Order: sequence, then C-alpha cells, then structure tokens
Amino acid sequence: MFKVNENYLKLPGSYLFSTIAKKVSEFADANPDKEIIRLGIGDVTQPLAPAIVKALHAAVDEMANADTFKGYAPDLGYDFLRNAIVENDYKARGCDIAADEIFVSDGAKSDSGNIQEIFSADAKIAVCDPVYPVYVDSNVMSGRTGEYDEKTGTWSNVIYMPTTMENGFVPEFPKETPQLIYLCFPNNPTGTTITKTQLQEWVDYANRVGAVIIYDAAYEAYISEDNVAHSIYECKGAKTCAIEIKSFSKNAGFTGVRLGYTVVPKDLKCGSASLNAMWARRHGTKFNGAPYIQQRAGEAVYSAEGKAQLKEQIAYYMNNAKTIKDGLEKAGYTVFGGVNAPYIWLKTPDNMSSWDFFDFLLEKANVVGTPGSGFGPNGEGYFRLTAFGSYENTVRALERIQKL
Ligand SMILES: *Cc1c(COP(=O)(O)O)cnc(C)c1O
Repeated sequence: MFKVNENYLKLPGSYLFSTIAKKVSEFADANPDKEIIRLGIGDVTQPLAPAIVKALHAAVDEMANADTFKGYAPDLGYDFLRNAIVENDYKARGCDIAADEIFVSDGAKSDSGNIQEIFSADAKIAVCDPVYPVYVDSNVMSGRTGEYDEKTGTWSNVIYMPTTMENGFVPEFPKETPQLIYLCFPNNPTGTTITKTQLQEWVDYANRVGAVIIYDAAYEAYISEDNVAHSIYECKGAKTCAIEIKSFSKNAGFTGVRLGYTVVPKDLKCGSASLNAMWARRHGTKFNGAPYIQQRAGEAVYSAEGKAQLKEQIAYYMNNAKTIKDGLEKAGYTVFGGVNAPYIWLKTPDNMSSWDFFDFLLEKANVVGTPGSGFGPNGEGYFRLTAFGSYENTVRALERIQKL
C-alpha cells in the first residue's frame, strides 16, 4: 500500500475564510434587505492600469505572428524584465543587485512557499505571530515544524515572535537561534512596519547568528514614510543573509495576472554552497518560466506611463486606508497600520474576542472584516479591515461603524 506525506495530515483545516464566507451568506439569507459591505478581502479591486493593458494587448499580438511568437520563456525570466527590475527596484535605491540575482516567477505566494526546500530538513524557522499562513504551512508540509497543539494554536518546533501593541508590532530577537527567519514588512495582516534602522538590526542579527532572512516585500509600494526601507538590500550586509520576495499583485493589481520575483544574492552562501545556484537549479527543474505576455505587462509597470498610473491606484487605496483609520479613531477605536500598508489592524473594544467582534460588526453595521485570531494566537483581540474596497463603500462602512 502506498504511503502519503503524513506531514500534510498534521495541517489543521484552514477555516478562516470559509467560516467567514459561511457566516456572511447565512446573514445575507436571513436579512435580504441589508446591504453588506466587504472590507475583509485581501485582493485588489481596481482594473489594470491602461499602460499595462496596452502591453498585454501588444504581447498577445506578438504571439499571433510566426515572426514574433514566443515559446518557453527563459527559466529565470526575460532580460527585459530582469533589467527593468534591477534599474527601478534596486539601482534607483542604491542597492547593488545584478540581473542574474533576480528570479522571475508567477507570484510571491509560490516563491514564499517553495523557498524552504533549498534549506536543511531540520532548519528551525522563526515567524512573527500573527503571520501570513503560507510561511508556516509550507514548512509543515516538509516536516520541519513538529507537532500542532490545538489549545495554543502553535507548532512545537516553530519559534514564534509576537507582534502586538505591547511591543509596537516590532518582533524581538528570539531566545532560541533560528536558521530561517520570515519577515514581512509592511506587514500583512497588521498593516504596520518597522524602520530601516530596526531592519538593519535584524540584518546584523542574522549575519551574527548565521541565519537567513526570507523578506516578503509584497507591500513595498504602499510605503509612505521616509524612514522605512523599500528593500532589505538597503541595509548593509543584507546580501550575505537575505532573500527578498516581491509581487506585482498589490502594487500593480496582478492578483489575477500572476507575476512576481525573488532575489537570491550570489554572496549568500553556506560554506561553498551558493543559494543562488541552488535556487536556479530548482527553478530550472520545477518551473518553466513566467509567461511572456505577463512579463511584458510587468515591464510596463516600470514605464513612465505605468508608474504614473499605478501611483494613482495606490493613492486611491491609501485614501481608503486613511478614511478607515480616521473614521475608526473618531469612533474611539485603537487603530494600527494604514500608513505604509493597505491594512488597518484595530483593537477590539471591551476585550471582545476577534470572532465576537466579527459577529457584532456583521450584525450591527453589516460590514465584513477578518478576525485577527485567524492569523495566529497573538492576533486574538484584533481585527483586520482592508483598503481594497471602493471609496464609496469605505465611506459608507465607516458611517455605519461610527453610529454603533
Ligand atoms: C498578497 C500577498 C502576497 C502576494 O502573493 P502573489 O502570489 O504574488 O499574489 C505575498 N505575501 C503576502 C504577505 C501577501 O499578503
């Protein structure tokens, strides 16, 4: 009889979004006259910018012509895109990253889930709590995390770094030394970030203890404050300890288009083993390249026209974020995030649990958000609202919340 990868069986069901959907549809059925506003989604809603649509159309036309048709893309990405990434995301910020350190992919979720496979099977990981679930679950699947404790909602072999209002949402160096440290700033779900100086301390720590930082910079485009790093490579020494994962999903609305990239510096080594060479080998074996059409669309993100249009799109979402943040504060809530990220993380009133507040908000204001406890035990007592809705709905939702 065959055997399965039993690590998969250890995964607790991911009930968060299915439970939300079920509760919302039950409420909608029972209250057909009530109009529900959804501020729980972690997905963009604005259409693709015109410069990107133009590039997509042009690339489709190239595929229709024998002279310009493209088959398999280069495993690691087309030079036109890797060079545009180097120029705009790195050189322009004073970071010394070369095109052969960029690996183009179909998005940050796959890369952040797959990157663990180039590390030792017993590598100990450290994550922030609350956390984007992909980092933990992908390590569960490969057997690194020990046993799950249902009572605490934690894994025995994972180092958790609480990020709460008590520590200003800045993770502290763990007592036990990890081999892999997952950091995501600006953060999903908390919408908060750390300063460049604080990130430099993490880089120094990782170099000192011989750990690798997996840095998820999916929300980099939402940074509004000057003292926040757009890339971990703005920090000295990051090329010997950090892998950076980027996405086109949140800065350019590519959640349905699919494009991302990962940076693995050539200086990142374990003895004589080069992580860059290993990731290249992995890509070559398991990935046949992101589609040409998408990569041309990605190139348009860096055109003058594309940049101007996307700046407006991000300003639209960040105006929603400000509307939510200001509106909640006016209503007396304690609120975090929303300045460098499209997420608002609020403290539930009267020590309500995250789920009690979910029910309260749905029933009394007909507004849907996401319970913080769904992202980890230290998310209990918090609640996430997103700025990805329409401005009109955001304003109406806040009017309702203020009347509670
Ligand atoms: C949305 C998001 C991503 C992006 O994933 P894609 O696969 O590129 O769409 C990555 N990391 C975090 C933390 C996210 O919230």
